[in-house]
Amino acid sequence: MRFADLHLHSHFSDGTYGPQDLAAHAQRCGLAAIALTDHDSVEGCPATAQACAAAGVEFIAGTELTAEQDGDELHLLGYFINTENPSFLAQIARFQTVRQNRIREMVARLNRLNVPLSADAVFALANCQAPGRPHVARALVQAGLCANLDEAFDRFLKKHRPAWVPKFKMSADDAIALIHQAEGVAVLAHPGLNRTDQGIPSMVEAGLDGIECFHTKHSAATSECYLRVADRLHLLITGGSDCHGMNKGKPLIGTVRLPYQHVELLRARAAQIKGECRR
Ligand code: AMP
Ligand code: ZN
Ligand code: FE
Ligand code: FE
Repeated sequence: MRFADLHLHSHFSDGTYGPQDLAAHAQRCGLAAIALTDHDSVEGCPATAQACAAAGVEFIAGTELTAEQDGDELHLLGYFINTENPSFLAQIARFQTVRQNRIREMVARLNRLNVPLSADAVFALANCQAPGRPHVARALVQAGLCANLDEAFDRFLKKHRPAWVPKFKMSADDAIALIHQAEGVAVLAHPGLNRTDQGIPSMVEAGLDGIECFHTKHSAATSECYLRVADRLHLLITGGSDCHGMNKGKPLIGTVRLPYQHVELLRARAAQIKGECRR
């Protein structure tokens, strides 16, 4: 059996691995294919494609967009994205600017709490276009202002904690349209982690192509539940580890294994979308 891990982050967003690390780990785990799905970014895709080609691992260019529906945050994965599509790149550049401004606002709130962190320290540490709360947390630990990442989130960064800043989010429908416009396949990420069940039919109406049934934080029962949803609504099935690097002393990549046949179905859907885009 061949397997894929279709949900990975790199240091081009809030992951810690670089393109070479991802390709090397994928090869070591015996993965046939991987997808890079950085938050609001495709910056790492060209280098990871190259590293994977050298390692004999198939690479799928992806992204993970933050969106909302009925006030609840949700994440949409895009697969087989054309990473050179100018209007897609212009749109995600806007989300990256929103992220950068949000970092400045979070730092300003920390400073008001007499926590002497600078935005430049966060940006230097993040060293990417799509910084997020994990980078603020790491900078707090690095500066000795928090003992560890959990403390940083618990004291300051979790939703409704004093340095938390809400993030502008596009609607789920707009995110699906944006992925399609870039010739990508639109997949609802980790539905077991968000309150999105009610909204799935309306996303299907907006063109949702698939649903991430297998995920590190899905129990076997949760995966089964979403496999039934996919079957009922004729959605494609994906899965991935959502690896941001090491997890409890081990690399998370490869711990969720999607049977390769689903990659072929995704690719067929991507070809169809591409045809529709060019018509
Ligand atoms: P952001 O996109 O800036 O809102 O940051 C979201 C990211 O922060 C998620 O992808 C998680 O990886 C991470 N995160 C969210 N909550 C926590 C938490 N309580 N502890 C550690 N990491 C978290
Ligand atoms: Zn993340
Ligand atoms: Fe996510
Ligand atoms: Fe993710």
